[in-house]
Amino acid sequence: MTRYIDIAVNLIGSKLEHQIETVLHEAHAAAVEKQIIVGSNLEESAEVATCCKQYPNTLFGTAGVHPHYASQWSDQSSEKLLSLLSHDSIVAVGECGLDFNRNFSTPDQQLKAFESQLEIAVQTQMPIYMHCRDAHNEFIQLVKQYRPQLSNAVLHCFTGSRSELEDCLELDLFIGITGWVCDERRGQTLAECIKYIPNDRLMLETDSPYLLPRNLKPKPKSGTNYPKYLPHIADTVANLRQQSKEFLAKQCFDNTMDFFGLE
Ligand SMILES: [Zn+2]
Repeated sequence: MTRYIDIAVNLIGSKLEHQIETVLHEAHAAAVEKQIIVGSNLEESAEVATCCKQYPNTLFGTAGVHPHYASQWSDQSSEKLLSLLSHDSIVAVGECGLDFNRNFSTPDQQLKAFESQLEIAVQTQMPIYMHCRDAHNEFIQLVKQYRPQLSNAVLHCFTGSRSELEDCLELDLFIGITGWVCDERRGQTLAECIKYIPNDRLMLETDSPYLLPRNLKPKPKSGTNYPKYLPHIADTVANLRQQSKEFLAKQCFDNTMDFFGLE
């Protein structure tokens, strides 16, 4: 039986929040059995923990501070985050990382918040869930320092080049692939390096409600992405890797269960 886990759903703090039952129902009908719900700041992560608790064995959360919100990081944040991480429904530290694309927080604030969260991941030995946009060198440099002490680490929504991929694999990072790869215009570079990701390092994600796969047919009118489209992304990725969809799906499912320590 083919089944899926979506490792990036922005269920809280997005338009999906008002239709949780429908989102879950449709995901389940599409064999998307479990979802990792992303926490972007501490308040949202607390809501994520509460929400996931209501759907045990289906929803699991991350707790952390996204680089966009890095300016919110304060002396009290580490302690607050540690308490969020003690919830059973929270399975990773993050999402955290660097995003120099829009710099909603300054690069210095981002580096500080990221490094603090790397330290917490080391301390708790929980998997770390990372984001990187237009900050590859700084990202690699920082992760390299902490990698030997970290347990599991994933770079979600990887959109980089072949050489950037090699840098990540050298640090033994897992790689999350979104529907970005389904975009025939800007997803081209990514499509070319998909086949170089080892079977045991790959995970799949929608990043819904963002990043609606552009090659969905018929094209959904709303422009909203949902976890139910994950099998479509798996299709595209399997084709690029010249693997069967069943093989790819099973591999990613097993990788994800192991990575997050799900039962
Ligand atoms: Zn992200």
